[in-house]
Amino acid sequence: MGDVDARYHRMRGYNTLFPIAFHYTGTPIAAMSKRLSQADPEIIETFTRIYHVPSSKLDEMKDPLRLARYFHEEIRKGMKEIGFSFDWRREFSTVDPLYKRFIQWQFRRLRDNGRITRGTHPVGWCTNDNGPVGMHDTMGDVEPEIGEFFLVKFEQDGIVFPTATLRPETVFGVTNLWINPDAQYVQAEVDGERWIVSKDTVQKLQLQNRKVAVEKELSTKDLLGSTVFNPVIRRKIPIFPGAFVDPKNGTGVVMSVPGHAPYDYQALEDLKSRAGPMVNAVLGWDEIKPVSIIQLDGYSDIPAADAVKKFHVQSQEDPKLEQATKEIYSAEYHRGVMKQNTGAYSGMNVAKARDTVVQDFTSQGLITKMYEILNRPVICRCGTEVLVKILSDQWFLDYGEADWKKLAHECLDNMTLLPEDIRPQFEYAIDWLKEKACARRVGLGTPLPWDPSWVIEALSDSTIYMAYYILSKYLSREWMTFKKFEKAPEKLMDEFFDYIFLGRGDPGEVSTITDIPKRVVEGIRREFEYFYPVDMRHSAKELIPNHFSFYIFNHVALFPRKHWPKGIAANGHVLMNGQKMSKSLQNIIPLRQAIQTFGADPVRIGVLVTAEMGQDTDFSEQLARSIEERLKNLLVQAKKLGVSKSKKKGERPVPILDKWMLHMLNEMVKQATSAMDSLRVRETIQRVLYQMDNDIAWYLKRLGPLKRGINSRDLVLRKILEVRARILSPLSPHVAEEVWSLLGRRGFVSIAPWPEPDDRSLYPEAEISENFVKQVLEDTIEIMKATGIKPKTIMYYTAPDWKWKTYLRALEFANSGTDASRVGDFIKMIMSDPEIRSEGKLAADYANKSFQQARQLKELRSSRVKTGSVDEAGILEDAKEFFQREFKASVKVRKSGTKEIDDPKSKAKTAEPYRPAIYIEE
Ligand SMILES: [Zn+2]
Repeated sequence: MGDVDARYHRMRGYNTLFPIAFHYTGTPIAAMSKRLSQADPEIIETFTRIYHVPSSKLDEMKDPLRLARYFHEEIRKGMKEIGFSFDWRREFSTVDPLYKRFIQWQFRRLRDNGRITRGTHPVGWCTNDNGPVGMHDTMGDVEPEIGEFFLVKFEQDGIVFPTATLRPETVFGVTNLWINPDAQYVQAEVDGERWIVSKDTVQKLQLQNRKVAVEKELSTKDLLGSTVFNPVIRRKIPIFPGAFVDPKNGTGVVMSVPGHAPYDYQALEDLKSRAGPMVNAVLGWDEIKPVSIIQLDGYSDIPAADAVKKFHVQSQEDPKLEQATKEIYSAEYHRGVMKQNTGAYSGMNVAKARDTVVQDFTSQGLITKMYEILNRPVICRCGTEVLVKILSDQWFLDYGEADWKKLAHECLDNMTLLPEDIRPQFEYAIDWLKEKACARRVGLGTPLPWDPSWVIEALSDSTIYMAYYILSKYLSREWMTFKKFEKAPEKLMDEFFDYIFLGRGDPGEVSTITDIPKRVVEGIRREFEYFYPVDMRHSAKELIPNHFSFYIFNHVALFPRKHWPKGIAANGHVLMNGQKMSKSLQNIIPLRQAIQTFGADPVRIGVLVTAEMGQDTDFSEQLARSIEERLKNLLVQAKKLGVSKSKKKGERPVPILDKWMLHMLNEMVKQATSAMDSLRVRETIQRVLYQMDNDIAWYLKRLGPLKRGINSRDLVLRKILEVRARILSPLSPHVAEEVWSLLGRRGFVSIAPWPEPDDRSLYPEAEISENFVKQVLEDTIEIMKATGIKPKTIMYYTAPDWKWKTYLRALEFANSGTDASRVGDFIKMIMSDPEIRSEGKLAADYANKSFQQARQLKELRSSRVKTGSVDEAGILEDAKEFFQREFKASVKVRKSGTKEIDDPKSKAKTAEPYRPAIYIEE
């Protein structure tokens, strides 16, 4: 999509800078090298079997940098083979020494601007790597979402049961606690209190800076017999077994609110029905009834029961409970009101009650907080589940800061988004983003300038790299002036970057400090000002909440408004036969292999033909093969037309079919151009490739065998192919160039101007007449099929003038928005015309029919009014030869209403506008 965008704009006359770089930063590469070092059979198989890495190379790939370089080379070759029109002079990687200088400059400036804080914040954390974890560090690239649980403390004999909940206000409706009967629990001293939590909770509490000392492991049997004190309703409640309780989520201890939580309601039902009456009676389970504490309009007293019923939940293991829970959670939060039995909170709406309960209970020591990964389990690339750690004295990008968010919103408001419907996701992301840990202990990348034991992580060193493309051309190896900096990068001072990117300081001084000639320093600055800002940033749609948003944030923090990003294009993935490419499905085709199998352009079109901004596209072998055929056919045409000598000059009468063909070409250009303006490439390909092929086939079929001297077929076909080559150029550049050259055109089609519609070649009347011929052809074939007749003669009767008059008036009448009840008025109006009235009942019936027809027509109505009456007999007469050729029968055309026409079966009276009567004779 990026390449299509760049190529299209180049042809539209833009000086398009389309660069590429390689992102080495972070843990994915390091993790793969590590797995190779450990001789992990899975990664060895992936490398050798799927990516065809020679076994002899595997050893050196244990070094992450060499692994990266290997794939860098492979990818670069693939990009060249598929024809990406990059400016390769600007290529770099994020571990290049001078890039690191640039990133260090960026971070020093961010810090100067107060955008970097040192603080204590929760982060996603891998206990195996001992470092923070972001989206690119996890399996399946999942961003860990951190949320807050409230721990409501239930107590018994000095022992605290901290139950994790998102809805502390429901504590008034708690009937019991749940623990998982098959999980392990411990008693531990936590910050001076004695807590009961699942064993998995211990590490999580420690990561969140609590002092935890495990005292003993507990048997769930002991716990299940006991009771705890509900401090709010001042009553003892029992502890029950609940298989739905996940010991890894929260504390593994859950308070049960069966009136308002579908899970709790269902678990209680399960408990009672699975135990039998004896057990129920002995253990007192059947005494436990849901308590109603929230009034919710449209629901009964027990909304949880309503939801369980509505979603047809079968048991506490039923995944539908998730939906039921979400629905009740949201409905009660937005519309629920606390009932009388909630004391001081009675009458409050749920949202307010929650805040107040948290405030009150926290001050009474009844509630504390705990962070949790809300979309857990999120798995680090090393295989460890990601947990939340409260990281102290760590460096953060302060995306939570209100002023910064305001600037980001301002930038977003002025940006073009492709597709536009992703805007709300950006609004949400900008509002939602908080402090982001910007450094890691492991992985490739740039050391944090003021604390080199940390490496700036992948989503933080890739936010303004687009600016570096201006520099990279100058800093590349070939440029002797800069070669010295590669060996001594520290000599490239911040003053240099300040001047190039911010226009700060004096070029003369920069020249003195860096020993770069002043005119070069000024030249780079000029080039930056010429190209920046970025007009369109292409990347993957799942990067909206992170990379794309950080890109906006960092630009507004560092650059003046005139250099803020102008556009973002969010692309989908390439599916293989409708499925995600994955190792387990064995359906991964590396790019270079696909190019070898199908050819570069069939791969490009094969991917683009189903592509839609923001959505996945589907590739298949069959599709690629069929496209290959189509493209080859273009080359065959070009070869023929290239040697054709029918080059006539000057004005000449254009036969109707040529007019039609040129009109369709013009329509195609218009539609393809409007589609390309918003990168609707699927539509463009449909028009320029498929529909044009169909139109040309019709044109040739209509023309029939070439007669010397009377048509200008080759001239028209040549013109079409030239235009198609230009429109196809961004999509299948190699075939387009070949066609261009076979047609004898000089230079590259890729830099030829994009075709403009030619207003002198618009012939709407030709389109109308050909649509009519097509319709008649199809209708005749239908009749032949239905009757099984092989005709000797075909008679076409077109509508009489009085029907045209009636029909057009009906259209106009319907255009004025009249309703069905006015049919009488219409017939009356029509019958007042003496000419029509003379047709008698036939006229009244047709007036009624045309009134109904006109009301049903939608878009066609206005265009048919505009067209007026059509000389159908004339059109059919002109196409007579064609029909005779197609049907191998003699064809006669008669206009109804003219006197004494041959009409053996009285068909002529059924003829209507756009629907001639057809009579077939054996
Ligand atoms: Zn890990």
